[in-house]
Amino acid sequence: MRNVHSGRPFTAAEFSDEQLAAALEDLSVPALLASCVHMSRPEDRAAILAGELRPLGSFLNEYQGFMAPEAQAEARAFALDVIRDWRDRGCPEPEPVAPEMVHQLMSWIVGAEVGDEYVPMMLEELELEGTDVRAVGAVDGAADYPVVIIGAGMSGILAAIRLSEAGFPFVIVEKNAGPGGTWWENTYPGARVDVGGHFYCYSFEPDDHWTEFFPRQPEVQAYFQRTFDRHGLGAHTRFATEVLGAAWDEVAGTWSVELDDGSTLVARAVVAAVGQMNRPFVPDVPGSFDGPAFHTATWDHEVDLTGKRVVMVGAGATGFQVAPAIADQVQTLTVIQRTAQWMFPNPGYHDSVGPGVGWAIRHLPFYGRWFRFLIFWPGCDAGLAAAKVDPTWEHQETSVSEVNDIARAMFSEWITSQLPDDPELVAKVVPDYPATGKRTLQDNGSWLRTLSKENVTLVRAGVDRLEADGVVDSLGEHHPADVVVWATGFRVNDFLLPLRIIGRDGHDLRETWGSAPRAHLGVTVSGFPNLFLLYGPNTNLASGGSIIFASECEVTFLVECLRLLAEGGHTAIEPTQAAYDEWYQRVQAEAQTMVWASPHIAHNYYKNAEGDVHGLNPFRIVDYWGWTRRPDPADYQLS
Ligand code: NAP
Repeated sequence: MRNVHSGRPFTAAEFSDEQLAAALEDLSVPALLASCVHMSRPEDRAAILAGELRPLGSFLNEYQGFMAPEAQAEARAFALDVIRDWRDRGCPEPEPVAPEMVHQLMSWIVGAEVGDEYVPMMLEELELEGTDVRAVGAVDGAADYPVVIIGAGMSGILAAIRLSEAGFPFVIVEKNAGPGGTWWENTYPGARVDVGGHFYCYSFEPDDHWTEFFPRQPEVQAYFQRTFDRHGLGAHTRFATEVLGAAWDEVAGTWSVELDDGSTLVARAVVAAVGQMNRPFVPDVPGSFDGPAFHTATWDHEVDLTGKRVVMVGAGATGFQVAPAIADQVQTLTVIQRTAQWMFPNPGYHDSVGPGVGWAIRHLPFYGRWFRFLIFWPGCDAGLAAAKVDPTWEHQETSVSEVNDIARAMFSEWITSQLPDDPELVAKVVPDYPATGKRTLQDNGSWLRTLSKENVTLVRAGVDRLEADGVVDSLGEHHPADVVVWATGFRVNDFLLPLRIIGRDGHDLRETWGSAPRAHLGVTVSGFPNLFLLYGPNTNLASGGSIIFASECEVTFLVECLRLLAEGGHTAIEPTQAAYDEWYQRVQAEAQTMVWASPHIAHNYYKNAEGDVHGLNPFRIVDYWGWTRRPDPADYQLS
């Protein structure tokens, strides 16, 4: 059978040279040239890699490898010849590229050496054999181990797909009326993903459909719906049903999962796939407001904002998207933003995907896989350097290392360059804390353009109280409002809220954790056998990657744990206390060496009230990938 990534054959009658040339205009030239290597005869491949037409480097959201427009045009002309030749030979299945050349191609496409240790992980991503390398084969005995998955968001769907492949019976319980989790709930104006869509998708699902490079919420939700349907998960899912809690029965070796409809499910394992940003946070301020007020995650689409005075409290990643989307509709928009946000240039943030891209993913060998690689690589561990604290660096209030200082200079330049005539606004929008210390936002200029509008006011203050007709900020100024929008984020550090999970000896998980949630590799918890967390403590990625990639690692790990359980006919699997404690100490110690824990950042959901970082993974992606391939027998006990 033909390799699914080797390009669907086409003829000149189906796709003319003119159409071909037009399609190439939409493409990433480095990914196109990589595809040319596959299409070329083996004896012609080395010349492409040795040629002068080559990417000069890589960076987040830079799809053209910094190649000059003339070089891109030349490369497209070259590619047109290669494709025509391949097409006229009948679009033969490309002969495999030799492993050394694949590694060479990895380095070539990003214009830098890709270290040996990254090659196995990136090969898995590239799927050059055309098979879903992370697919799970049938597990002996799986049928005797039913699983309850809590949540049909991104990671719950993923877990269900893999458990299904392995043969584990499963039920998904989802509190919403449909799948997608955060992408089901967050329908606020302007919502879009800020990781490139061609990487913000499952590695094994088609990605030829995105209409924007950073797709909007309806398209992302539709993707999860489609994936959910394609894998037949509907028959396994109870929507509009909330899990209240789960209790481990030591004698039976099962979990009893309590639902809000009064029923109970009994399972051998539980997967909590509830996300980190599931419970909206609204500050507890005194007073009351007489008009409509809602959180961005529960946007009230019944409220027409046209001609209204809107006060938006908070502007992190969410408010940053909302303001540009509503500013032209409302009479006035007042943004009460306590802390300025760092942002970096992404001119293509709102760009459409030309039709050539989907065509190339379907028809040009491995184009889509190399394009994915190109998005992944610059966000694969390189960003950690800018986040790492150099304790010898002398200016810790404003930057934590030389690299971090360079990032600060670059981001500052981007911000100030947009406001040449507005020093007052510059003073408000350039953050005073180290760059990357809070989530860095993607910007194509729309945020500062919005703040510069006549009807928009940025207030650099907190919020003090509500009054019947508006909001009073922490400086005492009253801002009249017809509508109040809370863009104040989520209870990120309250993991699994409000689930009541009771493990061995009647211990309540959230009480056991207190303010220090933890899980071995972010997935398993000592004293809570056969419980698996997805997107659990210290698994979020702040310096690159994609949370879908992290979830794929976690799901691989959980399936391997369940394999040990089922194939060995065991009752329970959990991390040893020693492994659990050692992981926590290690992850916390590492997190404290990162900018996210900087004492010079007053407000930051990355750290909790004690200054500890429980959401983020401070380790390299390649390490986490390696650690989660399968449980280390020394770290796990089976009973
Ligand atoms: P957030 O980043 O936590 O921002 C919350 C905002 O509310 C901040 O401006 C914060 O100010 C303010 N705030 C919180 N408590 C306050 C208080 N008591 N008084 C005054 N202001 C207060 O929340 P978010 O914007 O919803 O984003 C959360 C996360 O969701 C993001 O970091 C990201 O991971 C994810 N997200 C992703 C996307 C995407 O992919 N496109 C989009 C949206 C969200 P301070 O900064 O001073 O704390």
